[in-house]
Amino acid sequence: MDPIHAMLAGVLDDVRDRDAGDLAGYIPELAAAEPDRLALAVIGPRGRLTAVGDADSAFTIQSMSKPFVFALALEALGRDEVLRFVGVEPSGEPFNAISLEHGTGRPANPLINAGAIATTGLIPGPGLDARSGRILEGLSRFAGRRLTVDESVYASESATGDRNRALGHLMRSHGVILGEVSDTVEAYFRQCSVLVTVSDVAVMAGTLAFGGRNPLTGEQVISERTARDVISVMTSCGMYDASGSWLLRVGLPAKSGVAGGLLALAPSQFGVGVFSPRLDAHGNSTRGQLLLERLSDVFGMHMFEQH
Ligand code: GLU
Repeated sequence: MDPIHAMLAGVLDDVRDRDAGDLAGYIPELAAAEPDRLALAVIGPRGRLTAVGDADSAFTIQSMSKPFVFALALEALGRDEVLRFVGVEPSGEPFNAISLEHGTGRPANPLINAGAIATTGLIPGPGLDARSGRILEGLSRFAGRRLTVDESVYASESATGDRNRALGHLMRSHGVILGEVSDTVEAYFRQCSVLVTVSDVAVMAGTLAFGGRNPLTGEQVISERTARDVISVMTSCGMYDASGSWLLRVGLPAKSGVAGGLLALAPSQFGVGVFSPRLDAHGNSTRGQLLLERLSDVFGMHMFEQH
């Protein structure tokens, strides 16, 4: 067996029995997922992709879309303009918190729901179809293949998304969202419902890790500067109100999603995708975190490790 494949399969086996946590119950379609699924994929700088476990399982990207849509907004409008609408400070609050800056109504950062909805609103439309189309096309370039939307998850999110709609209306009252709230919030639900595998997630993470260049297709998807900006925000805010302890224990910029996906990266070295649907109280994949903690320990990947 290929040695990298064997090593990754070993790490997967180390955590296989750790089945704490629960499926995301607040989106009915996600509560129907197969809870024992477990998969891991890693991609290196020359595009060598290794995937182990249930690597063919597709799941929705959920909040792992947020750093990439932030990247698309930075590319479209530039950093200064984007920062007028969304901050870059850790909120220290749960993913769906009503966390808006006093006075301006600006959400704390683009990786919590409020900030992600504001960021989605910055992607040029006009209207839902044009905005959603542009986001799907952008996410597909990060993944290096044409991605699709899971229409039943989208319908389920939209049917139960009143809290996100409320956030949208609050932000519109502050001028953070311009135009129709529904055009922005529905585009956000659609971006969360994009289907991916762990290999897609690893390639997307790899594109950030390698200065915006997709390691599989060789396409320069975003500028090096945008990739650096996005990785910086992932480092401080990627794991919601568990971002500080994540940095301490694992030391890799990361982003989670409530379908159980987790992406992480080491700049210039690799991109990783993990899938395990049971979540902890913060909405982060329980076994996925253990897996990455183990990977970081075994390979000495903590960003502040002395080499
Ligand atoms: N679509 C989910 C929501 O807005 C995303 C949350 C997440 O993945 O953390 O509630």
